[in-house]
Amino acid sequence: VLTVLGILFLGIALLLSHFMSKRAMIPIRRSFQRQREFVADASHELRTPLSILQSSLDVLEMEEGEQLSAVGRTVLDNMKDEVRRMTKLVSDLLTLARSDSGPPDLQCEYADVVPAVQQMIRSTQTVAASKKITLRLDAPATVMVYGDHERIKQLLYILLDNAIKYTPSGGDITVTLSVDNTANPPSMCLTVRDTGIGIPPEEQDRIFDRFYRVDKNRSKQMGGTGLGLAIAKWIVEAHHGTITVTSSPGLGSSFTVKLPLHSPKA
Ligand code: ADP
Repeated sequence: VLTVLGILFLGIALLLSHFMSKRAMIPIRRSFQRQREFVADASHELRTPLSILQSSLDVLEMEEGEQLSAVGRTVLDNMKDEVRRMTKLVSDLLTLARSDSGPPDLQCEYADVVPAVQQMIRSTQTVAASKKITLRLDAPATVMVYGDHERIKQLLYILLDNAIKYTPSGGDITVTLSVDNTANPPSMCLTVRDTGIGIPPEEQDRIFDRFYRVDKNRSKQMGGTGLGLAIAKWIVEAHHGTITVTSSPGLGSSFTVKLPLHSPKA
């Protein structure tokens, strides 16, 4: 009888603590939810004044640009850089706040990803060339993938932008696209390899965290927000894929994205 009573008592105690801890979690969950809504609302509200600032600076440059003194020109250029940086930060924050607040909002279709990759290569080619960086693409004629191709472009842009930022002048960047039909599930494999500064082994796990930067000053100088790879990881996970990095300091980095070719429901 004592053993049965003991088991009964233990069972009730376990049940009680389970419900109590669930109840205790409610205010914490609500507070997280409020925090997420606050970040989303604040980012949204900041977009309008920032775009007004941006267009006011453009007008100032157009109307008064020629007459500006050297100091005036430096001040104007600094203001334009900071407004650009803040606009990017606000848009990155908004993307992440939205990603936190529910299932990913993806516009998926089964389409060839090669034109999207080529488009991203073309749009980053000029910046790469200005740093005398060679940008190459190695891809088959077509790779059919089920996914949100705008988000896939955004993901590739983040990886290319980083590769260009963290590769010194004269370096090489190679983008390789292939299909792995033997993987489970069959996947597309996208690699962005650079010959840049590399990432120390102990930092490689953390670079996908929000606001994590190996060298804060360098990243800031390059116009980085520390949110790019967190967004890249979110896009990859929303597609049920993986993103990994291999890197050697001083030699370069290689980011590999694997995304399933077909819809999970197929
Ligand atoms: P950031 O806006 O600072 O570039 P990211 O989230 O895109 O932020 O990247 C996080 C950090 O990872 C960067 O600050 C940089 O230290 C490191 N990193 C990312 N990509 C590369 C790369 N290709 N080569 C070297 N370091 C990189």
